[in-house]
Amino acid sequence: MDTISPVVADAFHLLCSDLYEHLDEAESLADKTQGWYREDVDTARKLIPDLVLVIRGLLLEHQVAPSGDCRICTSAWPCPVVTTIHGLIKDPDREFVALVNRAHNGG
Ligand SMILES: [Zn+2]
Repeated sequence: MDTISPVVADAFHLLCSDLYEHLDEAESLADKTQGWYREDVDTARKLIPDLVLVIRGLLLEHQVAPSGDCRICTSAWPCPVVTTIHGLIKDPDREFVALVNRAHNGG
């Protein structure tokens, strides 16, 4: 198996660091210890659909092919990406489950 060159490895590291910086900034909004200002609320209202878009995009890419495999990973569906997303979304300790439960129970 080929390994990537140190230059390419550095580029990959920079790319990942850049992406993680965006996620860290998004997460830091929720972790803010002082109250939210109007600007924070506005940011969160825009950020939530953006984060959902990222998850939907991953699910769209990792759909099942007619063969029964993931069309991107070519591993048996549900592939590791879908399995990870499913595990996180259906985790009863996360807000996704509570949100759906409240919606079904009228409030
Ligand atoms: Zn996949």
